[in-house]
Amino acid sequence: MKPLLTDYDERELADLPLICDQPPYRVRQLHKWLVSGADFDEMTDLPKQLRARLEETYSATGARIIKVARSSDGTEKYLYSLNDGSLVEGVLMTYKYGRTLCVSTQVGCRMGCAFCASGRDGLFRNLSCGEMLGELTAANARAGDKRVGNVVLMGSGEPLDNYENVTKFIRRLSESGIVGQRSVSLSTCGLTDKVRALADDGFSVTLCLSLHSPFDDRRVKIMPTARRYKVADIMDAARYYFNASGRRVIVEYAMMRGFNTRDEDARELRRLTADFPCHINLIPLNDTDSGLKGVTTKEAHAFLDRLTALGASATIRRSLGEDIEGACGQLKRRYTENSFTEDKTDHND
Ligand code: SAH
Repeated sequence: MKPLLTDYDERELADLPLICDQPPYRVRQLHKWLVSGADFDEMTDLPKQLRARLEETYSATGARIIKVARSSDGTEKYLYSLNDGSLVEGVLMTYKYGRTLCVSTQVGCRMGCAFCASGRDGLFRNLSCGEMLGELTAANARAGDKRVGNVVLMGSGEPLDNYENVTKFIRRLSESGIVGQRSVSLSTCGLTDKVRALADDGFSVTLCLSLHSPFDDRRVKIMPTARRYKVADIMDAARYYFNASGRRVIVEYAMMRGFNTRDEDARELRRLTADFPCHINLIPLNDTDSGLKGVTTKEAHAFLDRLTALGASATIRRSLGEDIEGACGQLKRRYTENSFTEDKTDHND
């Protein structure tokens, strides 16, 4: 694979072969094109000869959309091809306040959560900063003037298991003025050392913690990482992140019948989130052939009401893109043809 230019920030670009002998303004022009997702032939203010030489040595973009599925709710799911042929999926959600892109951070995932399809085949490899940027710029290229305003690191992969590349990506987004940190949400199954590193490294993204049970002995039944990372430590790390960043933390909680929606779950969840600003995001469990059971709308609201009565701040997350297997936990490394048959839009519109 050719080296990918979007993996380098402006300072690093300036040191690369073929580029290091260019004047600083050329490096700036090139960097601007790269973060906008342009390929070499579009970089019209760079000399043709330079573009041709760069193209022989480097790639300019890290991800291409090769298939699109469109949900009845307007959500779009993309199948991206990376330059080595690896496949990842991404989801574009349209809300009243703008567009949110769900970005994949790894090909596959090694966390092994029982309810999630992304980790079924284990981890294949990490995505680089430039590949994640490629997911965003490819989505923006389709979006016309309705560009992506929010990024959620909730696609396939565990972002904190790919700390260096993911944090580089977040920095590139904010430094290039594409998406500010306050418009980025990072979801983790709770790698506490890395949550503390995020705080120490001065990040201010919205931290989302996949808790799914407030009890270690239950959590470990659905999340293997719970063997190492205990609930008390996860909440300590969350508090640490709040103290450093001032950002309210989100606790994600996929409701599973008979497993985590009992009264004692509500009480313990409330206790854990009571002493610093935390919001509980209740997620209807999406179908992934896991054998785990979701809850009815009525049961979901009963659990929400119980939490609210206990004084917790909680809402139920609207599930988008279920009909195209684009909802939480449904993204896969290997795609199934039938999840990409629903796109009836003209891709050039
Ligand atoms: N690895 C990160 C990002 C994963 S996806 C993490 O663990 O947080 C984002 C959210 O979807 C996580 O909270 C994840 O636990 C949740 N999720 C996974 N499978 C799901 C399913 N089948 N139904 C509902 N939510 C699911």
